[in-house]
Order: sequence, then structure tokens, then C-alpha cells
Amino acid sequence: MKVIVTGGAGFIGANLCRRLAASPEVDAVVALDDLSTGFESNLAGVDAELVVGSILDADRLQTVLSEGDAVVHLAARPSVPRSLQDPVATHEANSTGTLRVLEAARTRGAHVVVASSSSVYGGNPVLPKSEDLASRPLSPYAVSKLATEAYAGAYAASFGLPTLAFRFFNVYGPLQAAGHAYAAVVPAFVDAALRGEPLVVHGDGTQSRDFTFVGTVTEVLTDAVLRRVTSPDPVNLAFGTRTSLVDLISLLEEQLGHAVKVEHVGPRKGDVPHSQASEASLRAHFPEVAPVPLAVGLAETIGWFRTLDPATSRPGRHEA
Ligand code: NAD
Repeated sequence: MKVIVTGGAGFIGANLCRRLAASPEVDAVVALDDLSTGFESNLAGVDAELVVGSILDADRLQTVLSEGDAVVHLAARPSVPRSLQDPVATHEANSTGTLRVLEAARTRGAHVVVASSSSVYGGNPVLPKSEDLASRPLSPYAVSKLATEAYAGAYAASFGLPTLAFRFFNVYGPLQAAGHAYAAVVPAFVDAALRGEPLVVHGDGTQSRDFTFVGTVTEVLTDAVLRRVTSPDPVNLAFGTRTSLVDLISLLEEQLGHAVKVEHVGPRKGDVPHSQASEASLRAHFPEVAPVPLAVGLAETIGWFRTLDPATSRPGRHEA
């Protein structure tokens, strides 16, 4: 079995390539990535081929996908703030990019798993978020993810392509980049805490998220690929936990063994106040899945950050 991972040099993608490459059922793993936010070094020591190129390059995509039995489509311009900076670039990479991946997969009949996002629930205040709730995107990024999952469903309905769309909720863990303006909250907090710098909290910190460890996400994605799981509707990939940023900071302090400095700034545009998944559909499709608890995943994440070069927040100098 040959698996193509678009965005395979990114945070989730590289963790997935490592997991797939370790799977006896998988013969070959190919990562297709334009390295816009991903890093070649994320795949160091992983038995996967990296093809540097864009999913918007139809010929390149066709060549790479021509031998794939399954495609896990993770390539995207991630992050809400990036989409506010340049909505059209987000649309092209995420919406048009997904369309191109599905087109290339269609000729091969490959199983396609795509990454949508909890951001599609947006302004809908109902908790927990079950997949049948009305979506109310609050940012161009959220719209582009709605297009991603809708195209996957439409290609299944129109052409019989086997597809599955996951709605990821805040995924965190090793390889997630910090040290840039659009960093996600867990790497931003861990990086700042280890440097002794203030943790920047948008708003009062009572906003809450359903944090999901990347190791759990890659287990589910691998299982989906190996069992060729499909669904006409998107499936939340989170477990119904809800942690406020205030509680996340307390846990971080507990694990580091000291207090951290916190700086409050204004709320961020496009951010939703609370996010918590209904896990019913995920459990129905993946009854075996056992999520890694936040305390365990956070400890592993802190451990990885301690190995980074402090000058760049990238792999480099190894410290105790
Ligand atoms: P990431 O930025 O680390 O990974 C995205 C990868 O896609 C990068 O390696 C980037 O270089 C690559 N890429 C971007 N545009 C490309 C293009 N045109 N052609 C080829 N490669 C391209 O981010 P991530 O957190 O690993 O996100 C992976 C996927 O999961 C994305 O689709 C994202 O929208 C989705 N997602 C992530 C989260 C999360 O919490 N991390 C939450 C919801 C959804």
C-alpha cells in the first residue's frame, strides 16, 4: 500500500508520515509539500519520500498521486489570522487546493482523507459541537475548510470516490512550530514559558478548547487509511474535553514546577469563545481509539521543546 500525505512536512503531516512508515501494512509513504510552513527537517529519520511541490500544480499532483492507494490531504494555509491577512491566498491553497487533490485522486480511485476544522462551527454557540449543527464560519479560513469537507462529500456523492473528512480541533504536540506570529496556543505558551517570557493571552483566558494530542490524531488517521473508512458526513476528531487557557497555564506551571508570567492583550478577530467536540461519531467509526490525556501530551510536548535550539525554536542544539 502506498500512501500520499499532502502537507507531509508540516506538524501533523510529519507526525503522520512517521506513524504510517512504522506500519507493516504500508509499503511506501510520500510527502508532497511546498515547505511554505512545513520543514524538511520534520521528516529527518522518517522512512518517507519528500516531494517538494505545490498541490496547486496539477501536473505535479497528478504524477505524485498516480500511484497512491490513499491520500491524506493535510496541505493548507492553516490559521485564522493568516486568512484575515490574505483571504484569497487561503482560498486558493485550501479550497482550490482540495479540489485539485480530489481531481487527481479521482482518476486513480484513491481513498481520500481530508482535514477540515472545528472553525466551521464558528459563531454557533451550542456545545458540544455535534456534526449536524449548523456551521457559521467567522473567518475566511473557516470558509475554506467548509469548502474542503464539502468537496470531499460531493466527490463521494458525484463520482463514488471513497472520502472521509475530519474536523480537527486544537491539535498540539511535538513538531508544532512556535516562534512565528501565527503560532498555535500550546506551542506559543510552551516556547514562551521555557524562555521565561510572558505568555500572551488574547482576552481574559476563559476561552476554552478541546485540545487533541497529535499522537492520537495520527493513530486515528492511520486507522482510517488502513481500514479505508468513509463517511458521507464530516467526523469530529476530538474527545469532548474542554480546557480554558487559564487551566492550560496552571497545568503548564505544574509541569514546569514554577509560575509563568502572563500578559493579557485584546481578543483576536475570528476567534470563537468555546470549542468542545461531540465524540459520538468518532467513537462509532473508531471504537478502538484511546486518546492521550492532556497532561501526558503536554509533558511530551514540553520534552520536545527542550530539545530545540533556543535561538530559532527549531530542531538544533540538544539540551538536557
Ligand atoms: P502545518 O502548517 O504544519 O502543515 C501544513 C503543511 O501544508 C505545511 O507543511 C505547508 O508547507 C504545506 N502546504 C501549504 N500550502 C501548500 C501547497 N500549496 N502545496 C503543498 N503543501 C502546502 O499545519 P498543521 O497544523 O499540521 O495542519 C495540517 C492540516 O490540519 C491543515 O489542513 C489544517 O488546516 C488542519 N487543521 C489543523 C489544526 C491544528 O490544530 N493544527 C486544526 C484544524 C485543522
